[in-house]
Amino acid sequence: MEEVENTTAGDISGPSTQRQARLFALLYSADEVSERNTRIYDEMLGQSPHIRQPNFTVIGTDDLQRLFGGYDREFFRGRLAEMLHEDGAHPMGFRLSRRLTSAAGQTMRWTRPIQRGGKPATEYRYEITVSTTLLYNTFQHLERRVTVGGLACRDRLEALQRIFEHELLHLAEFLGWGKSNCRAGNFHALSRRIFAHEGAYHDLVTPREQAGVAFGIVVGDMVRFEFEGKQHVGRVNRITRRATVLVEDPAGRPYSDGRRYRTIYVPLPMLTKV
Ligand SMILES: [Zn+2]
Repeated sequence: MEEVENTTAGDISGPSTQRQARLFALLYSADEVSERNTRIYDEMLGQSPHIRQPNFTVIGTDDLQRLFGGYDREFFRGRLAEMLHEDGAHPMGFRLSRRLTSAAGQTMRWTRPIQRGGKPATEYRYEITVSTTLLYNTFQHLERRVTVGGLACRDRLEALQRIFEHELLHLAEFLGWGKSNCRAGNFHALSRRIFAHEGAYHDLVTPREQAGVAFGIVVGDMVRFEFEGKQHVGRVNRITRRATVLVEDPAGRPYSDGRRYRTIYVPLPMLTKV
């Protein structure tokens, strides 16, 4: 999307280094992240007219609004709403989609050059969409560990939170930088600082996985494999073209189950189920 530089004195709308600094100043430990997440989780169950249980079957766009409020308060110190106001884009749009199936969520930004008081200005619009197809496929048929952003999810509400966090990082990048890319270093740095995420990809149940996985290995399986001349045993955390296997290691990264794991990427044919 086309970026229009706005240099009008006193105008604080649009991406800026000040905004980038305000976003990069946000930093939480893994413990703080889990406390704050639990507060949001409990608040959703307590306040949502639809989400009455962790594996809910009904969700409304007002739930996404409620989530936004909780996250902006707990993790962003109100800065997302503040920047949206500065951009004249508050409240932003929230959508639920059944047709979104490859990504668990999507965040969009639109800009349009306009005239304000006879001067050139920019109109901004932001929208977050969450895929209900992926949400509802997950925790329905499969009993296995589901991870989003490298963190394990115990139920559908936790999966929704992980998806939403990912989208909020996109929003934060759009607000601060004017562009966003979850495969780039800036996104990962923000993701680690604010949410203690280990990876930027979701592992919800895709239609492809439902159709059955080649090699008979699914996420959550314990596997054995050889790596750098040694035998390892670990749990499959993610499958793309390779499997991401978490091997317990005192020198590894802390995970939500309180243990430390090292991540090893292994081609699927090299894995043996334990
Ligand atoms: Zn993304």
